[in-house]
Amino acid sequence: MARLYYAGACTEGSLDGRPALGLLLDQGEGAGDEAMKRTYHCLKCQSVLNPNVKIVMVVAQGPNRGLALFSPQPGNYSIIYADHLCLRQGELTEFFCPVCGADLTSTASPNLARLGVQLGDGTQGWVDFSRWFGEQATYYVFGDQVRSYGENAQLYSSLNFFGEGLNREE
Ligand SMILES: [Zn+2]
Repeated sequence: MARLYYAGACTEGSLDGRPALGLLLDQGEGAGDEAMKRTYHCLKCQSVLNPNVKIVMVVAQGPNRGLALFSPQPGNYSIIYADHLCLRQGELTEFFCPVCGADLTSTASPNLARLGVQLGDGTQGWVDFSRWFGEQATYYVFGDQVRSYGENAQLYSSLNFFGEGLNREE
């Protein structure tokens, strides 16, 4: 079994304890309650990407490509990935569905990636998050409402997040 490292263990990553990606953090609404469990899925093949706890996606920076696990816990930005996959801060990162291989780049912007989200009460929406490693910008879209998170959220706050889909339909 491969050894697993948290992002901070990567010597090239130099994360300095900062959150690595602006995904998954909802500090409000009784966060952590089982009733608030969010299920994330690929918008192309509809596969659930957090069948247990962690969200599984394929990430790539140039030739470095592999699986990474993302925490759904509010405020927990830790990422787990194999040691050969040394993600670098400040690089544009590609995200792919591990089931169908779809490029998860958002229709809202090439700077963002997108997953579908279903809340515990069945409400459907999606989440856009920055593809720039180290940038904290996350946008949950439910109905006609956008809730943004992260210290860099203002970067893309003027985008139109509506219109469900991925950038490339193949
Ligand atoms: Zn898929």
